[in-house]
Amino acid sequence: MATLADPVPGGRPGETRRAAALAAELTARGVHGIVLAYVDTAGVGRVKTIPPARLAAAVTRGVGMSPVFDTFLSDDSIVTTDVLGSPDGDLRLFPDLDALTVLAGQPGWAWAPVDRITQEGAPHPGCSRTFLRRIVTEAAERYGLTFQAAVEIEWTVGLDSAPAGEFVPAVSGPAYGAIRQVELGYMGAELLAALAAQGVDVEQLHPEYAPGQFELSVGALDPVAAADRSVLVRQTIRAVARRHGLRVSFAPAVVADGVGNGGHLHLSCHRAGVNLHAGGEGRYGMTAGAESFVAGVLAHLPALTAVTAPSPASHLRLKPSRWAGVFTAWGRETREAALRIVTGTAGHADESANLEIKPVDLAANPYLALGCVIAAGIDGVAAALPLPQEITGDPARYDAEEAAALGVRRLPESLPEAVEAFRADQVLRSALGPVLADAVSAVRLGEAAAVEGLDDAGVAAACRWRY
Ligand code: GLU
Ligand code: MG
Repeated sequence: MATLADPVPGGRPGETRRAAALAAELTARGVHGIVLAYVDTAGVGRVKTIPPARLAAAVTRGVGMSPVFDTFLSDDSIVTTDVLGSPDGDLRLFPDLDALTVLAGQPGWAWAPVDRITQEGAPHPGCSRTFLRRIVTEAAERYGLTFQAAVEIEWTVGLDSAPAGEFVPAVSGPAYGAIRQVELGYMGAELLAALAAQGVDVEQLHPEYAPGQFELSVGALDPVAAADRSVLVRQTIRAVARRHGLRVSFAPAVVADGVGNGGHLHLSCHRAGVNLHAGGEGRYGMTAGAESFVAGVLAHLPALTAVTAPSPASHLRLKPSRWAGVFTAWGRETREAALRIVTGTAGHADESANLEIKPVDLAANPYLALGCVIAAGIDGVAAALPLPQEITGDPARYDAEEAAALGVRRLPESLPEAVEAFRADQVLRSALGPVLADAVSAVRLGEAAAVEGLDDAGVAAACRWRY
């Protein structure tokens, strides 16, 4: 369970003592370093590391890091907004002790997500983890809503020995194939063991559709913990793979043509402990609240794309008929609609019914993505938005007239198009606040400009090993 309170300079009550005790325990367990992790606006994981002996200082005073990373691009160049991107200033990284995890996949290391606060002790308006915590807190306070969330992880394994920058699949067996499971060898078992030791309840690991692709799904948690977990799981997959001479990419498209790596979100709304996606009078057991939540997400999808599909490579993945969900539509277990209603097995709907949001990839900052999707859904709940007609099958088959009659639209096809929709979306902008909203627009346009002139293969190659 992630902490729902902001960090405070000097530490939360009892935290310094707790950190000192934890440090001793970590040292006894052979930990030499703690990775302090966050995700920037471009979706790149950034870190600092400290030895356990500095943990108490870190929860008291934080660890310094420039705010410039809020406007870093995935190629490490920097853009600016009115307030971000300057070489001036400093922020303090505060590790969340409740989420600190010994990394079984990376012996000698532990890991903790951080919140970033200013030197004066105020939450940093560009901190995506703080943003998500605020959205979740507001949903509980204003609407009595809580959430369970999970991020699916799709990834591609290549040979570390491949020529620089190139992708040579490390396995060759067919999609969902028994051969490929064998080819992954001991890495698969070691990965499952490491995740189990880290307290991650893996639901499934399977060979996926694209060359060298696998998918791992995990159990649902509260949204902040789910976002933390998606970062932790990727750190673990990467580390275990490396020990096996394999190189992992979570990039939305590792090659230009074909199925990409998604990072679908699963989300369910709950009130007083009851899953609003099950046992209701609406379609497929949804309550009126759940239908409106889904309708809210649907209405904001074009703008959400700026947050959930942030890389130039995201738009190589977001193509029709590849199960990436590029049409504004919903359906029960419909894998070509952007929103898939998952009802679960008969008799188990209460535990498993949820909404899957598909046009999301792992270049997305999971804190921003979950926070914005929840803000969009809550907008639907607040307005009691009706959920339009569902679709079945692949919307790519509709002609213009059929699509218009069903309200089915293609999602933005480029970062600038997504930014245009995002800039017009007051709900998402005001949920994020001006600092983060401007950072999202500036970083997306910067990413688009950075690959200008490259063909699709060039974009895939440029982004391949950044995520
Ligand atoms: N790889 C697909 C994507 O890019 C998803 C496949 C699936 O539904 O698991 O979203
Ligand atoms: Mg999949």
